[in-house]
Amino acid sequence: MPNLSFVSPTRNSPWGTYLSQIDAVEPYLGHLARWVETLRRPKRALIVDVPIELDNGTIAHYEGYRVQHSLTRGPGKGGVRYHPDVTLEEVMALSAWMTIKNAAVNLPYGGAKGGIRLDPKQLSLKELEKVTRRYTSEIGIIIGPQQDIPAPDVNTNGQIMAWMMDTYSMNTGATATGVVTGKPIPLGGSLGRVQATGRGVFVIGREAMRRLNVPLEGARVAVQGFGNVGSIAAKLFAANGAKIVAVQDHTGTILNHSGMDMQNLLDHVARTGGVGGFAGADSIADENFWDVKSDVLIPAALEGQITAERAHRISTRVVLEGANGPTTPDGDQVLADRGIIVVPDVIANSGGVTVSYFEWVQDFSSFFWTEDEINVRLDKIITGAFKHIWDTSEQHRITLRTAAFVVACTRVLQAREERGLYP
Ligand code: GLU
Repeated sequence: MPNLSFVSPTRNSPWGTYLSQIDAVEPYLGHLARWVETLRRPKRALIVDVPIELDNGTIAHYEGYRVQHSLTRGPGKGGVRYHPDVTLEEVMALSAWMTIKNAAVNLPYGGAKGGIRLDPKQLSLKELEKVTRRYTSEIGIIIGPQQDIPAPDVNTNGQIMAWMMDTYSMNTGATATGVVTGKPIPLGGSLGRVQATGRGVFVIGREAMRRLNVPLEGARVAVQGFGNVGSIAAKLFAANGAKIVAVQDHTGTILNHSGMDMQNLLDHVARTGGVGGFAGADSIADENFWDVKSDVLIPAALEGQITAERAHRISTRVVLEGANGPTTPDGDQVLADRGIIVVPDVIANSGGVTVSYFEWVQDFSSFFWTEDEINVRLDKIITGAFKHIWDTSEQHRITLRTAAFVVACTRVLQAREERGLYP
């Protein structure tokens, strides 16, 4: 473990998980290993106090972060998360995974991430707007269209991006659409961005299944998390002939071996706020989700879900990581030993940031593409990135995760070496 005085990660915590992934890639970096320590330290981490006056007149303080893990290959890029469990260590790991993801797909970005420790369900819309605007002002000293470009993540959306864009623009005195991505369409957002992460999960899943000879038609799919990522991925899998047999979210776990009707489930979620109580499936205990037999398992919720204990129980062909960091190092080892292929987050969920990149490019040129153009370009870029990672994994006989890290870390450290140390 590196000597960072402000963190104390454990092996399976998010930052500990990331560090063990860096340990795994180190032997494959050749002469670039000389620079590997760069990857074990975030370039910059900002902690901000976010005070707001609540609707009831009291003052509340929230802790917010923006971590720029790497700016070597371009400006920082990565989402902002609102969640009661957000910590500096978690945001550090998420920002580091953005560095790897952006480099694995060859987007011209470094990696960054932000977050505020709060439960957005406890706040009114007005309070949420105040928190967002104050947070944006506080991190305004390090973000910008050429510096670092936030985007949605867990519990943040287009409305929050609109407030961030407006606040940054008011503070700088010029409308800067390119300061955030994932904006509403009328404010310089991109067609296809909302669906992009889920679409990318499907596209990468399709590619992985093709190589593993697992037919899409009739494939059993289990999904944990039914937010923006899980629900869109599930819908696309179902539309392409797969059966969604199990879904879990914060309201419950549902099971139907013959496959669920996705439109009915989406309508139920729109009506009730979650999958719990869906009439088209049976309700099962949450922990039993991990025992459901499937061909594709998509963790699309939070980190640390696939522990060693759960990895022993999982019966599937492919784990497709829609979430960031859903598998612990111990869980990863068990899955690898059992011959279960894990398609890592840094490629499986890279569709979101790829279309964020398209949004940013469109904002700069003030020329907007059709949804078809977006989807075709998305498919081409991430399919190509997946092929490169797959070939690397075969060449070195390593897992897809380590292969993705080989591809990405080589790009980052090559750039690091060519730029040289300043001064
Ligand atoms: N939050 C998303 C991710 O984890 C998207 C980030 C972005 O579009 O910048 O990849």
